[in-house]
Amino acid sequence: MCTKDRLRCLIPAVGKLLDHCLIRSLIESGVAREIVLRLIRSTLEKLRSLSDDELEKLDLSLDHLAQQVVAQIEERSLQRVINGTGIILHTGLGRAPLSDSAIQKVEELSGYCSLEIDRQSGKRGSRDLHIAELLVALTGAEAGLVVNNNAAALLLILSTFAQDREVIVSRGQLVEIGGSFRLPDVMRAGGANLIEVGTTNRTYCSDYEQAITEETSILLKVHTSNFKLIGFVAAVPLVELVNLAAVHDLLVVDDIGSGALFDLTKYDLGSEPTAQASIAAGADLVTFSADKLVGGPQGGIIVGKGALIAKLKQNPLTRALRIDKLRLAALQATLHSYLSGKLTELPIWKMALRQLSEIKRDAEALAAALEIPLKREAKVEVQDGVSQLGGGSLPGEEIPTALVTIEFFHSDVEKVAAQLRMGDPAIFTRISSGKLLIDLRTIRTADHGVIVERFRNLSNQRSSVIS
Ligand SMILES: *Cc1c(COP(=O)(O)O)cnc(C)c1O
Repeated sequence: MCTKDRLRCLIPAVGKLLDHCLIRSLIESGVAREIVLRLIRSTLEKLRSLSDDELEKLDLSLDHLAQQVVAQIEERSLQRVINGTGIILHTGLGRAPLSDSAIQKVEELSGYCSLEIDRQSGKRGSRDLHIAELLVALTGAEAGLVVNNNAAALLLILSTFAQDREVIVSRGQLVEIGGSFRLPDVMRAGGANLIEVGTTNRTYCSDYEQAITEETSILLKVHTSNFKLIGFVAAVPLVELVNLAAVHDLLVVDDIGSGALFDLTKYDLGSEPTAQASIAAGADLVTFSADKLVGGPQGGIIVGKGALIAKLKQNPLTRALRIDKLRLAALQATLHSYLSGKLTELPIWKMALRQLSEIKRDAEALAAALEIPLKREAKVEVQDGVSQLGGGSLPGEEIPTALVTIEFFHSDVEKVAAQLRMGDPAIFTRISSGKLLIDLRTIRTADHGVIVERFRNLSNQRSSVIS
């Protein structure tokens, strides 16, 4: 029976693989047997669908297959990451790390908490009353509301005020942000008709004015976030849109994206629109993310006119887009850090404002520690480099930093970077001109030991392969 599909017969049975010591210890470590079993089945099914010619090229040993299954399980689970990329708000790595006080608040409120109850009367209350008060105090707006993320904030506004009506946007602001967020798509989902005006590089107030019809409901301004128009460009200042909207009885909505809550130029970090400036300029509603420059948990913040926020709350979508108590807890603590003037309690600002001399000291220390396990296989140096704020904020704005650079004599740098990403905790680095770069701005000093240990293990693995 094994003559025709000679190699297919060598594919092990499910039970054999399930009994392998690697798989057994995987299950003992807490991974559900059912999940492992499904993965084993699908792995073996895939192999059985291959021809002998294809199977010939593969390693069908139990050890190898077990390793594959373990690697796949590890790949799928959410894992802690040491961020050596120097990108402070890295969307792929979960954007803003939470502050200690936010984490403490989450812990405190993770049991029962007064989420939606009025403590005085014991009757049902509002879940975001306190957050709204903090937002009002911070931004100078009349009212505030928090939803799932900034995309949801925009969707809610469009669905409430622009369903089957027209929304005017400059062609220079029809942005795509990180793959799945494209402004024209959100418009469609919100039931609004998008009216594009101006050209890619220049839009004037008269362009908006000429496009206004009976059907118009909103003049929408969108922060271009992740790209920069330079050269022969013109955009309409928010104040002019506000004046135009007043004449025609329209709403001005300003999506400022990253949502800075203070003037970044004060710290030499370039210029980003602030929520306060938008409110002061007279925008009716301002939306931004809670996990970009605010430095909190995922969320979409809307601030603006009280009557409009009240209307948003009546939209049934608000219920579908609301956030849970844990994120509210984290956001409350995050906003408190601003109100108490303790900016560097927030990890993103602590990292962004770190002194270069301090980062250099860290880089020297890490490089010296890495020299020991790597001395025969790589050249380890400290170099100047640049970090980025990320999260679509300040494109082109670069913050000076110090890097540890590792140039391997024999190993493939891409392979080493992949091995670092696959471990626990995962370590993310950059690669440039064939060197592995570790940016110390985004790494806690307390994590140096783990990094050195991982390089030592990788180095041991390599030397045992060679011998
Ligand atoms: C990031 C961004 C969004 C999307 O925000 P999420 O909170 O990720 O949904 C929308 N608009 C602008 C201008 C942005 O920069």
